[in-house]
Amino acid sequence: MNHKDLSEADPEVYEALKNEIDRQESESLEMIASENFVPRQILQAQGSVLTNKYAEGYPGKRYYAGCEYHDKVENLARERACEIFDADHANVQPHSGSQANFAAYFSQLDAGDKILGPVLSHGGHLTHGHGVNFSGDLFDFATYGLNRETERFEKEDVMEAAKEHNPDLIVCGYSAYPREIDFEMFREVADEVDALLMCDIAHISGLVATGEHPSPFPQCDIVTTTTHKSIRGARGGMILCKQEYADDVDSAVFPYSQGGPLMHQIAGKAVCFKEAQKESFKDYTQQIKKNTKALAEGLRDKGLRMVSGGTDNHLVLVDLQDEDVTGKEAEKALEDSNIVVNKNSVPYDPEPPTVTSGIRIGTPALTTRGLEEEELRSIGEMIGEVVKNPDDEEVRSEVREKVSGLLDEFPLYEDSEVDL
Ligand SMILES: *Cc1c(COP(=O)(O)O)cnc(C)c1O
Repeated sequence: MNHKDLSEADPEVYEALKNEIDRQESESLEMIASENFVPRQILQAQGSVLTNKYAEGYPGKRYYAGCEYHDKVENLARERACEIFDADHANVQPHSGSQANFAAYFSQLDAGDKILGPVLSHGGHLTHGHGVNFSGDLFDFATYGLNRETERFEKEDVMEAAKEHNPDLIVCGYSAYPREIDFEMFREVADEVDALLMCDIAHISGLVATGEHPSPFPQCDIVTTTTHKSIRGARGGMILCKQEYADDVDSAVFPYSQGGPLMHQIAGKAVCFKEAQKESFKDYTQQIKKNTKALAEGLRDKGLRMVSGGTDNHLVLVDLQDEDVTGKEAEKALEDSNIVVNKNSVPYDPEPPTVTSGIRIGTPALTTRGLEEEELRSIGEMIGEVVKNPDDEEVRSEVREKVSGLLDEFPLYEDSEVDL
C-alpha cells in the first residue's frame, strides 16, 4: 500500500489541520457551551484502524465475520455507559445527537404521532420539533414554555400544555437552559397524560455522569445524548433506556435509520466513558460548575442580567434587552476581542433568531484548559466591558491582550499530543 505521511501525501489538508491546532491552542477563549477539547487517548482511538471494518449489527450478532475486536470495544462502551448513567441498556451507535433523537422517537412512535417539547427559543434543539428539521416535519409537535416570572420550566405550565395536547411522548432536555431539570416534575406530568418521557441530556451528560446534575433515571423512559459536549469524548451520539425499550431502540438505530457503525468513534466513546468514571472527571465537572458561577459573578458585577438570574450548570444565558447591543452585535464584538460565544434567543425575544437579544456562554472547554474561578470571574468582567462598549476599539484591544496572557498561561496540548 502507498503509505505516506499526511504532510507529504496531502499538504493542503495537513496545513489546514496544523492551522486548526494553532487556532485552538492560541487564538481565542473557547466559550461555546457545546464544545470541548478531548485528550490524546481519544484522538488516538478515533484515528484507529477500527475505521476499516463493517460491523453492521450488534456485538455477537454482526452481519459480517471478523468482528471479535469490534465486539470487545462496543461491549466496553455499552457496559461503561450503563454503569455511569444507571441505565439498563445503552446503544452507542448513533452517529450524532440528532441521529440518536431520530432513532429514539421512532423506537416508540410512528410518523404523525404527538410529541410535547420545549419552545425552541426557550432552550430546545432543532430536533425538538423545528420546522426545518425531520422532527417538525414528521411528528406533530406541541410546545411548553418557560415561566415568564421565574424563567424556569414550571409544573403548572408543562401540565397545562400536556393536558391540552395529550402527547404520546414528552421531551425534556435543552441546549440553552442554565438550570437543573426537575425529572420528578416531568414524570408526574407524563403519568397524568399517560405519555412516555424522554430526556435529551446532550449538553449536561458530563454533569449527569458524575452526579453533578440529577440522573434522568428512573423517571425517564429513554435518554439521548451526544458524547462530545460536557462529557468530553468522541463526536457522536448515544441512547440509554430501560430494558423494556432496548430491542425497539436497537432496531430503530440499525437497521431502521443507520447502516454500519463508526467503530473508531465508538472506541473513542469507550475511552471517554473510562475517563468519566475517574475521580479526576468528577473534579472536572465540579470545577465546571464553580467556574460558571464565577463567570456569572463577573457578568453581574458589570451590570449584566442573566436569564433566571444565574446558573446551576455549565452555561449562562445573558439577556441583552437592556443593553445597546443585539446578540448578533455582542457575538461579533466579543469575537473581535478573541472571546468566542454564540448569540442566542432569550425567552420571549422580540428579535428574530438571526439577530437575537442574548448570548450563551459556557465553561466546559476553558475548564478543560485548567482555568479556575479567578480567571472566569475576570473573563465575566471582560465580557461585560466589551458588551457595554461594543464600538470601543481600545476596550477590545485591552481584552485581547488579557486573553492572550490567559492562553499562554493555560496551554491546551503539548506538541507531542497532537502530532499529525
Ligand atoms: C447538540 C444537541 C443535539 C444534537 O447533537 P448533534 O451531534 O449536533 O446532532 C441534540 N440535542 C440537544 C439538546 C443538543 O444540545
